[in-house]
Amino acid sequence: MRVGVFGGSFDPIHVGHLVLAESCREQVGLDQILFVPCNMSPHKRDGAFGTDRQRMEMLALAIGGNRSFAASDIEIRRGGVSYTVDTLAELAASRVDDEFFFLMGSDSLNSFATWKEPKRILELALPIVVNRPGVEDNALDMLRPLCSPERFAMFSAIKVQSPLLEVSSTAIRSSSAHGKSIRYLVPSAIEKYIATQKLYRD
Ligand code: ATP
Repeated sequence: MRVGVFGGSFDPIHVGHLVLAESCREQVGLDQILFVPCNMSPHKRDGAFGTDRQRMEMLALAIGGNRSFAASDIEIRRGGVSYTVDTLAELAASRVDDEFFFLMGSDSLNSFATWKEPKRILELALPIVVNRPGVEDNALDMLRPLCSPERFAMFSAIKVQSPLLEVSSTAIRSSSAHGKSIRYLVPSAIEKYIATQKLYRD
């Protein structure tokens, strides 16, 4: 299987995430998109943040019914700081027949060189970077020194055109906190979940 690993805090998952995932699935020919919420340190959970359980439940609501989308609690179970390299290594060891890609918005690419073991990440999976509004066009070139020329050629040839959606979890949490509408920015089941769980209110 060709698997796209999509990490984030997903607090909450929103249409920006879903559209990015679907564009990559279709245009790169991925069999599965695996959403992997990062572990959040308990201090970050106080106040207006979702718990691990709530973020997983929202993911399940958002992707339920799509057989190509799945969620994994691998980083939450591992605990501590979530490093992409550890997640990809764990996945690669347990799913030896699968080929891994990892998806990210262009804002994440900017900090990639500072991630733990960036070279190893690029050996374990091919990156797919999708533009995000307000962020410079993706500068894949910055990954050139971190992998072989052959590897670079492989992933720099992957182009995904995805609608630019200026949506962020931060803005959704803020709107919720101020009683503003988040309708259509998240799937309706997520909108209802946030309301019934009284999420993101201080
Ligand atoms: P927050 O506002 O809390 O930082 P976020 O909306 O950026 O959250 P994350 O869960 O941190 O969402 O993002 C996970 C991944 O999804 C990152 O690679 C990020 O670049 C990408 N992403 C998030 N929102 C968008 C969007 N609107 N368009 C493209 N990529 C996005």
